[in-house]
Amino acid sequence: MASETTFATSFKTITVMKIDRIEHIGIAVKNLSEAIRFYEDILNLKCYGIEEIADQKVRTAFFQVGGTKVELLESTDPEGPVGRFIDSKGEGIHHIAFAVDDIVSSLNELREKGVRLIDQAPRKGAEDLKIGFLHPKATLGVLTEFCSK
Ligand code: ZN
Repeated sequence: MASETTFATSFKTITVMKIDRIEHIGIAVKNLSEAIRFYEDILNLKCYGIEEIADQKVRTAFFQVGGTKVELLESTDPEGPVGRFIDSKGEGIHHIAFAVDDIVSSLNELREKGVRLIDQAPRKGAEDLKIGFLHPKATLGVLTEFCSK
């Protein structure tokens, strides 16, 4: 009985986030123009945007794939997060990004639930999205990004 009461109480105080979809999958690559060629010439997808994100020390290329996207990430600095990722793990899937309605309340909710965050508050990501990363140690080894418009 006591545990039911506790559950009901905590359930009420925590707002429930809504993840709409996988916004994109981030893939770390060594050479962006070679990677774009593979996606365009072999996979027959069209790169619709290239953007440098100084804050994350990356250059990104985007491909729309149905309702989601692929974000290729090339490091602009060997000491940046993607540079270090490639150095230790090689090229490959770097992160998964979920679209949420309200990133501020989602990050707050995660913090209330005890989830370790890399970003305590949203920052500016590619495509003018507000983004925040969760720590991979708190997300079963998958670097997870939340983003919203
Ligand atoms: Zn991303």
